[in-house]
Parts: sequence; C-alpha cells; structure tokens
Amino acid sequence: MFVVASQNGRVGIAAAMQVLRDGGAALDAVEAGIRLVEANPDDHSVGYGGYPNLLGEVELDAAIMDGRDLTGGAVGALKGYPHPISVARKVLEKLPHVFLVGEGAARFAAEMGFESCELLTEPARETWKERLREDLPPDVLAHLTEQPDLWRYVEIATDPERARGTTNFIAQDAQGNLAVGVSTSGWAWKYPGRVGDSPIIGAGLYADNRYGAAACTGTGEMAIRAATAHSVVFYMKMGLSVVEAGQRAMADLNDLGGRYLSGMNLIAVDRAGNHVGFSSRPDAKYLYFTDAMDAPAEAPRLYIPLNERWQRSTSGACSG
Ligand code: ASP
Repeated sequence: MFVVASQNGRVGIAAAMQVLRDGGAALDAVEAGIRLVEANPDDHSVGYGGYPNLLGEVELDAAIMDGRDLTGGAVGALKGYPHPISVARKVLEKLPHVFLVGEGAARFAAEMGFESCELLTEPARETWKERLREDLPPDVLAHLTEQPDLWRYVEIATDPERARGTTNFIAQDAQGNLAVGVSTSGWAWKYPGRVGDSPIIGAGLYADNRYGAAACTGTGEMAIRAATAHSVVFYMKMGLSVVEAGQRAMADLNDLGGRYLSGMNLIAVDRAGNHVGFSSRPDAKYLYFTDAMDAPAEAPRLYIPLNERWQRSTSGACSG
C-alpha cells in the first residue's frame, strides 16, 4: 500500500494512508487526501481559497480515476462547491457520463447534497485585485465584467511564472488497486470557463491497475495537447520502466510548438509501487508514504528541462 502526492498534498497524505490502513479502497484514500488540500485556505491553487479567474470568480477543476476498470469522474469550471474531488467521485458513481462542467456540474453537486459556499477568501481577493491593478489599464479594470474584449487581457494577467498549482494523489490499496485524483483552481486570473488538464482523463491523470498511474501539475494546456498522463501509462504498457516512461512523456512536450510553453511536473508509479517524480524545474520534490513508513517522506523529482517560451501576441492587449 502506498500514497504518492505532489508537495502540497502534505496536509492530506497521512489521512489518505490512514484510509488504506483501515482497509479502505485506493479511491477513498485519494478522495480523503485531496479533500484536506481543498479545504486548506492557505493553498491558493486548490479548492477553498484558490485564486480566481480574471473576473474574480473561483472556478475549480478535479477528476478521479479508478485503475480497476478505467472508470472516471470529472468536473470543470465548478463554482461554489469547495470539494470538486467529491463531486467528481459522484459523477463516476452515479452518472453515465465522465465529465460535467460549469452550471451543470454545480446543479449536480446540489442534487448530490453537497454544501455550497463562497470560495473566494479575502487574501485571495486582495492578491487578485493587486495583480490586476499592476497589469491592467485603469479604464479596463473599472469595467472588467462588461469588457467586450476580455480575451485581450488574459495574456497580460496570466503569466506562467506566477501563482499556479494543483494537487495530485495516487494510491494503491491492499488489494493492489490503483487510483489517481487531481484537483485545482487552475491558472490564477484565467479566462472565465477555461478548463485545464486536471479534470481531463488522459491529460492530467491516468490510472490502469495493469501498468501504473500518473498525474500532472504545470501548464495544463501542454498536458492536454500531449495527453501526458496517458502517455506515461501507455509507455509502461509498451514495456518501458516508470522512469523511462516519465522521461519519454516529458520529452514529448518538446514536440509542442506555439507561443505558450511553460513548466510541467509529473508523479508516476508502476503497479509494483515504484514511484518517481519529474519536473522541468530543478530542485522540485514530491511526497510518498508506504505502509512500512511512520510518516511521509519527500523525494526529489528528476529534472527534465523543457523548451519554454511565453510570447505575447502582437495583436493582444493594449495594441488595438
Ligand atoms: N495544471 C493546472 C492547470 O493547468 C495548473 C498547475 O498545476 O499549475 O490548470
């Protein structure tokens, strides 16, 4: 039994391991761990307290996948519900669908009896306001909601070096079943309705008991285009080790063109429980906790530099 998580999973990884120790399923462990990250108001990249979109609305993305039968549930751009991972789990369990977004996802959350609340905390609101004051012309800021060309300003406000993040959890239970979950508030100051890789099965997460599991944090648009999490598992299916599979999936990102390329991070496990993290940033870490351990430990991620560029469009903001 083990749990592997991104570093911001520290607040939830012990609870996830406890679920496994109590005989719970990998899916339960992943959900329990992620709920604690979602509830952490100091984590501005996940759940309650997450940074909002350009208009100041917190929109959450999450997904969960069961490695036993490749079932999954996901929600995107969900407003007003602090635990998108649990709503995603209900999508998996109750619906013939995999992925709900926006108003439909919120309606379903209400039908499932989830409590809604305001997700935008004061510190997150302050940072949002400050950032927009720095980045946007005052006349635009004064009429942001009615702005007919909001798209022009996303490029300015959404800078890859700025606050982002996601939580990743992978667990294997006593029966050897794998599950993976991902939850995020996405890019800070994103265009309303933008959905990243986190709720997209195959992009931000993938689990298959027969081979292994993987999950991403980083530039979601890249993981969507390269189907990164699925690639890791697929490369294992093709016979590569978990280390080689992750290296290949990271290297695939260098095939991407376009003007918006930035960082990527992966955690991956094989079915035997070998785990590894990868990052395009040096010195990045991830967490792991096996049933033989008393407490979670941190491990360095393999550093895999990627091509990065962030070229603003010449026809973008402020250029008419
Ligand atoms: N992958 C997330 C997204 O694109 C953000 C992140 O992990 O930094 O929404």
